[in-house]
Amino acid sequence: MNPDLLHELALLRDLGYTHLDLSASAPAQTETFAATEDTLDALRLETHNCNSCRLAGTRTNVVFGVGNPNADLMFIGEAPGRDEDIKGEPFVGRAGQLLTDIIKAMQLSREQVYIANVIKCRPPENRNPEPDEIEQCRPFLRRQVALIKPKVIVTLGKFGLQSLTEKSYAISAIRGQWLDYNGIKLMPTYHPAYLLRTPSAKKDVWADMKKVMVELGIPVPA
Ligand code: URA
Repeated sequence: MNPDLLHELALLRDLGYTHLDLSASAPAQTETFAATEDTLDALRLETHNCNSCRLAGTRTNVVFGVGNPNADLMFIGEAPGRDEDIKGEPFVGRAGQLLTDIIKAMQLSREQVYIANVIKCRPPENRNPEPDEIEQCRPFLRRQVALIKPKVIVTLGKFGLQSLTEKSYAISAIRGQWLDYNGIKLMPTYHPAYLLRTPSAKKDVWADMKKVMVELGIPVPA
C-alpha cells in the first residue's frame, strides 16, 4: 500500500476513527477537455511564424489568404509573386487583376470569395515552388480549406490541383472536369498568368467558371 496513505490512515486511527465511510465517494471527475479549436487566425499566426523551408529566409511577408472566411467559393493559386510578397495579399499583380475580373464576371467580388495559394511565401525570382516547399506548406492549405469549408474549390494551374489531390494530373487534360477533394467539388482550370500569355485560353476558363456558377446557383449570363 502507498506509504502516504498508510500514514494518513494511522493518523486517523490515532484521532479515534474506527472505520471510514466510503459511501460518499469523491465526485466522479467530470471535467472534460474540449479539443483545441482550430481557427483561421490561429492558422494565420502559425504561417507567420513558420520557418520550415528556405522561403522563410527570403520573404518580405507571408501571404496567407484573403476574403470571406465562410466563402462558398475558394480559389487556390500557386505562390505569391513580387507584388503579393510586398503587400502580403494574394493575387494583387497583373495575374491578380485578371482573376479579379474573372470573379466579377461571375457576379461575385473578391470579398465574397476566398483566395489563397499553395505556398504562402514567395519563391525567389518567381521560380516554380519546389516539391519540398509544397510538401511543407500542404498542411496549412489543407487546414485552410477545412476551416473555410467552401462548396466549390477552383484550382488555378497545376500546383493547386497537385497539392490537394497529390496526383500529377496534366492541367490541359483535366481542366473543366469536376473532381472531389474531401467531399468538396473541385474544378481545375488554367492559371490567370497562363491566360496573360495565352489569351485564347480565356474561353476555356470562362466555360469552367460557368460550371462553377451553375453549381453555386448563380445565374449564368446568356
Ligand atoms: N499571385 C498569387 O498570389 N498567386 C499566384 O499563383 C500568382 C500570382
